[in-house]
Amino acid sequence: MNIVLKNIAKLYTVSSNGKPSLKGVEMQEAGLVDNAFVIISDEKITKVGKMSDYTEAAYPEAKTIDCSGKIVIPGFVDSHTHLVFPKTREDEFVYKIKGMSYEEIARRGGGILNSAKTLQSVSEEQLFVESLDRCKEILSKGTTTVEIKSGYGLSLEGELKLLRVANRLKQYTPQTIKTTFLGAHALPTAYKNNRESYIQLVCEEMLPAVAEAGLAEFIDVFCETGFFTESEAEKIILKGYDYGLKAKIHVNQLDYSGGAKLGVKLNALSVDHLERISDEDIATLQSGNTMPVLLPSCSFYLREPYAPARKLIEAGLPICLASDFNPGSSPSGDMQFVMSLACIWMRLLPEEALVATTLHGANALGISNQLGSIEAGKQADFLITKPLENLSKIPYSFTENLIEQVWIKGKQVWK
Ligand SMILES: [Zn+2]
Repeated sequence: MNIVLKNIAKLYTVSSNGKPSLKGVEMQEAGLVDNAFVIISDEKITKVGKMSDYTEAAYPEAKTIDCSGKIVIPGFVDSHTHLVFPKTREDEFVYKIKGMSYEEIARRGGGILNSAKTLQSVSEEQLFVESLDRCKEILSKGTTTVEIKSGYGLSLEGELKLLRVANRLKQYTPQTIKTTFLGAHALPTAYKNNRESYIQLVCEEMLPAVAEAGLAEFIDVFCETGFFTESEAEKIILKGYDYGLKAKIHVNQLDYSGGAKLGVKLNALSVDHLERISDEDIATLQSGNTMPVLLPSCSFYLREPYAPARKLIEAGLPICLASDFNPGSSPSGDMQFVMSLACIWMRLLPEEALVATTLHGANALGISNQLGSIEAGKQADFLITKPLENLSKIPYSFTENLIEQVWIKGKQVWK
């Protein structure tokens, strides 16, 4: 059966006319069509146009949704989260307010290593129930596709546990879920003086087990000063390639490093964070097809510099925005708030922020041919707003949920 969305006051298709992404000034073109209609057949979008070209008689059996006074945009594609985690860390939040040092916080139960310790005492069922709640929460804010990383296990059993939960979520939420193996998230204390052994564990035991069970599509490494070096990251990613995993890498959050260059050299799908990025890194990104993914809620929460989004766009690059939903540096997966932060602190135009949270999220996951825009042939994932005159009101009204309906695969899944 056909579904017709008609009288849409403003439809933002985020069409890229077949290109995998919109670069530089193209990001200002979010494909606005005034007074528009969209036809959906089963799970897909079949036609998009202006109401003046719509003939009711062509779709006699169709179910009609009147979108008068409302805006329709693609569903948010959040390409970077750590949404499956064992426990929120609000105690740590208060310690930070009081000015406690990182070491002291770690001693009291904060940090990645402590999340890994907590994971051991949390049952897989509890981990699943809490993670499903997080999926529902972000669904209500408009996230229709979400990537989830492991990385709080740091042991064979722990990493498998996280990835089993992430994969099980696929059967319980309508969202499209993509999973990433991030065994190299931090070096466990037990391996402090024996880095090679841990890297060997990641490459020789965890990776084969993850790949054999089909638990992840992507491989990620925390390539940062104090975590994993570029040569260690390269080794792990190349090993991932042997198992058919595609790369997404955490780089340049804490320091200027060669992480971005490594990403381009290895033709990674994305390099994520980039709070500290040099002109040379920007030139390298211009030479490849690796998507720069920026995570403004992380900068907001940690009171760290924001990635130089304007500079990247002015260099003719595309940029993607994601939430980095995790318990330690971004305890929120709200993509409308990510848009607000990007507009306020990175000076993105609302249209650019929309492109960065939809089409470019899909690009950072290698699925922009199926998701991320409202075009014939794509999966019918879209959001209908409350009555709204301008797209700008979404990032302007930060923390107000302006999404009225969430649709995935041609079905209304929220409200
Ligand atoms: Zn992250």
